[in-house]
Amino acid sequence: MSKDILKISKDSNVYFNLIEDYFVTHTHAPHIIAGPCCIENEEVLDATAKGLYELGIRFLRAGVFKPRTSPYDFQGIGIKGLEILKEVGLRYAMFTVSEIVDVRHLETMIDNVDLLQIGSRNMQNFELLKEVGRSGHPVLLKRGMGASVEEFKMAAEYMACEGNRHIIMCERGIRTFETATRNTLDIACPAILKRETKLPVVVDLSHSLGRKDILPDVAKAVVAMGIDGLMVEVHSDVQNALSDNSQQLSLDEFEKFLDAIDMLEERLV
Ligand code: PEP
Ligand code: MN
Repeated sequence: MSKDILKISKDSNVYFNLIEDYFVTHTHAPHIIAGPCCIENEEVLDATAKGLYELGIRFLRAGVFKPRTSPYDFQGIGIKGLEILKEVGLRYAMFTVSEIVDVRHLETMIDNVDLLQIGSRNMQNFELLKEVGRSGHPVLLKRGMGASVEEFKMAAEYMACEGNRHIIMCERGIRTFETATRNTLDIACPAILKRETKLPVVVDLSHSLGRKDILPDVAKAVVAMGIDGLMVEVHSDVQNALSDNSQQLSLDEFEKFLDAIDMLEERLV
């Protein structure tokens, strides 16, 4: 089997551009995927989704399984969160994005989520990649925090080999000696991916940076590169969020963020 399906698909134009062709209801690129780190309850998700919808956002992210560093931290509400996510997504006609952590959840996740996320900690979970690949379901693949660009591309290749071309690549920062940010955003990675694959590329600002103050500056830089999307964590009641509360934006902060990167007005028209 060829090792270069993604390159071949670029040449032969086989690749079906997920963001532009599959999620056709929203014409503004770069697309913004926003929402809480995880679903805590329906009330918070609904309030967040409503606020985002009113700001023109059409992709709602929210985890139900949270792979946390400490087993004592909040782990997400699990399968029952999927029903909430589906309902809220339908209520506001938003596409939903949520992380899959276990192949045993695949069928249920597919039934309830528009775009499966494979998280940083699972980027090289090859059995998961193969199963999601076989499913053909749209997937957002995050870069492993210790993965090279080549390893990231090969993880996508695993899914492509099984027939899934509906893959969005997501740079979310890598581990370095730097402590000023949660991870180090490697902006060369999206540039390389744009050049060497035909896959849409998204930058997750929240998990890359882990802080809010520099979000607009960094967003402007990656938008200027021509990336296809941004991911930002937003929570309607951020002070009481159960995870990542130093990096999640309130709805007001998110509105200011959109304004600061000149993306507010176009979304409201
Ligand atoms: C997330 O997006 O919720 C998440 C856990 O991100 P990552 O896998 O990039 O750490
Ligand atoms: Mn998070």
